Amino acid sequence: MVRVGPATLVIDCGPDFRQQMLREGVSSLDAILITHEHNDHVIGLDDVRPFNFLQRRDMPVFATPRVALELRQRFAYAFSHEPYPGAPMINLEPIANNEPFFAAGIPIMPVEVMHGSLPVLGFRIGDFTYLTDVRAMSEEEIDKTKG
Ligand SMILES: [Zn+2]
Repeated sequence: MVRVGPATLVIDCGPDFRQQMLREGVSSLDAILITHEHNDHVIGLDDVRPFNFLQRRDMPVFATPRVALELRQRFAYAFSHEPYPGAPMINLEPIANNEPFFAAGIPIMPVEVMHGSLPVLGFRIGDFTYLTDVRAMSEEEIDKTKG
């Protein structure tokens, strides 16, 4: 979880997402950034439902097209044309490496690392960079994290 000014962002949404949100007393969540599609990084997405209910809106979830495709398959019930009442409401926002974006008004720079043979994203937010599951990283990507 990252609090930036008034915004609260979460990077990845693993099986402990619900417990983490309760532990940290997060009553409002603005967006979720996904590094990659492995279950330990996404399987908690069903638990955005209380935030949908409290905030009365879809949860913006930022992910690459490859990751978004996996999420649509894994959480097919959330993306069906007629989701059942109470299904998680997720608004997938496409992102790509080398394309800075804004989440909840916060500027974010993707940083790509290799997780074995799988390219995954980390994120630089101000002078904070979050990287996970890094096996290798190019000099260009390392440069993005400097300073
Ligand atoms: Zn992984």
